[in-house]
Amino acid sequence: MGDSKINGSLMWYYGICKREVWLMSRNIVPDQSDTNIDIGRFLHETAYSRNKKEIEFGNVKFDVLLHSKHKLIIGETKKSSKFHEASKMQLLYYLRLLEKAGIKASGVLLYPEEKKRVEVELDDENIGKLESAEKDITEIMESSLPPPVKKNKYCSNCGYREYCYS
Ligand code: SF4
Repeated sequence: MGDSKINGSLMWYYGICKREVWLMSRNIVPDQSDTNIDIGRFLHETAYSRNKKEIEFGNVKFDVLLHSKHKLIIGETKKSSKFHEASKMQLLYYLRLLEKAGIKASGVLLYPEEKKRVEVELDDENIGKLESAEKDITEIMESSLPPPVKKNKYCSNCGYREYCYS
């Protein structure tokens, strides 16, 4: 987990589409006029704003939702649980970063439009998944060519769809 080129967003994209990981890592900018991207940003900036205190830690930003004497809980707000596994990987990545800095934390994924919250814990199994994903992401980033287009449920929302399907 020490590679600074990997971040939480790449971990999320890894759970969605490996080709997108390659495109993002090359700073190929997706279509900014995509309304789904705007809605996602809007939700991230507004949802749960009463509890929200965004903090930066290394190369990532996240929301602190609760901070008691014994426990820190960090949260990620998402538009939909449709990509729950990807969101979970992203949050686990943040939890692991904190753990490596000596900060024990739990996570919670928030889906305000669905009035749903899912708790996420960093256990041995999840650490193994993260390490495997990090290795895979590094290989994708180092490849001179992107992985081929593989249609998936995110394609219709993806800012790269013109690039992939034209
Ligand atoms: S359009 Fe589909 S295949 Fe292309 S980068 Fe986006 S999610 Fe991946």
